[in-house]
Amino acid sequence: MPDKHGSYGALLFDRRWKDKRSSILIRDNNKCVICGFAEGLQVHHRQYLYVTALKKFKSPWDYSDKTLITLCNSCHQRGHSKFKVPIIYI
Ligand SMILES: [Zn+2]
Ligand SMILES: [Zn+2]
Repeated sequence: MPDKHGSYGALLFDRRWKDKRSSILIRDNNKCVICGFAEGLQVHHRQYLYVTALKKFKSPWDYSDKTLITLCNSCHQRGHSKFKVPIIYI
């Protein structure tokens, strides 16, 4: 079992993530896709891809748009407490 995120937190300040994140927010009309709330939005990964050959997770921005969705803080927290994000080994 790989270490869940390692330095994921720091990666979220990366320019490439900021760009990816804003493109997802625009696609989702700057609203939570579950409840429509428009504040405190976060972009959620519906799955994590672990690259077996490199023994590490893909960078957060290195995902196709369809694996990313815009959620408000409360839907995001609720989602994470109910469901475990699947890890796909590639
Ligand atoms: Zn919401
Ligand atoms: Zn999430």
